[in-house]
Amino acid sequence: KREQDVANAMKPAITTDGYRMEIVANIGSKLDAETAVELGGEGVGLLRTEFVFMERASAPTEDEQTEIYSSIAQVLGKERPLIIRTLDVGGDKPLPYLPIPHEENPFLGERGIRVGFDRPEILRTQFRAILRSSEAGMLRIMFPMIARLEEIKMAKAMLEEEREKLNLPAISVGIMVEVPSAAVMAEQFAKEVDFFSIGTNDLTQYTLAMDRGHPKLAPYVDGLNPAILRLIDLTVKGATKQGKWVGVCGGIASDPQAIPLLIGLGVKELSVSVPSIPTIKAQIRELSLVQCQELAQKALNAETGADVRAL
Ligand code: PEP
Ligand code: MG
Repeated sequence: KREQDVANAMKPAITTDGYRMEIVANIGSKLDAETAVELGGEGVGLLRTEFVFMERASAPTEDEQTEIYSSIAQVLGKERPLIIRTLDVGGDKPLPYLPIPHEENPFLGERGIRVGFDRPEILRTQFRAILRSSEAGMLRIMFPMIARLEEIKMAKAMLEEEREKLNLPAISVGIMVEVPSAAVMAEQFAKEVDFFSIGTNDLTQYTLAMDRGHPKLAPYVDGLNPAILRLIDLTVKGATKQGKWVGVCGGIASDPQAIPLLIGLGVKELSVSVPSIPTIKAQIRELSLVQCQELAQKALNAETGADVRAL
């Protein structure tokens, strides 16, 4: 039985009509990467590097980061992609040695890439470590909390400066689409990057203006609200016009009710929680792309999140 489970987990996630979805994992450590591979994960769609920085007295050095990213890349090998997201702190994720002055609205303040622009040495150190690890596997870099086109240009320029100094090859660059402006401007933003990964946790929070961790609002902070589905649709359409691909790494990528819709909307890659990899691959093998597309069109025209879930 166990051997059969392992063999099944390793099979790709291909729909009944032959459409292949890439199923990759959200991870925070090398151990997560090992488990993801054992469970049939086809790579890593989101390495949350905050975990490399947390529970320490000071920031990891360039060498320490290089060691960690390289060792994770080695677990995945050259065939499985590893998307490394640059430090995403601020908001609900504090770091003791990186104090952010008191803010009235931390989720709308210094967080994600904004922290990196304010403390460029932290970002540049991380860029160098990622570039230096790139030979160890199939590395891609991703910037969090991009809201404006200028931010992509600025981050890319900093990355390119570090790359030139190190004289290393260029790597694939993507952004998180987790702020509504990025979804609305997807077609323009797509010209600047190789891929998008939709962070539906923050995209839902910022679209509905509801704190993602608020206990009273939890029932309403639903990534299947049609407003969010319409933003995902806009993102995929904008990216497709520029020949770029779109993944989803927010929580709904692991939600069985959301998966047919994401497939139907044209998402190519789902980055899911490690334990859910085998069941999600099995679910996709039972779905038809054409039916998912029909369902997605209905969902885009639904009036409420509850109506979408009923569908
Ligand atoms: C998201 O916002 O959906 C996401 C994947 O990033 P995080 O949950 O780390 O903010
Ligand atoms: Mg996020």
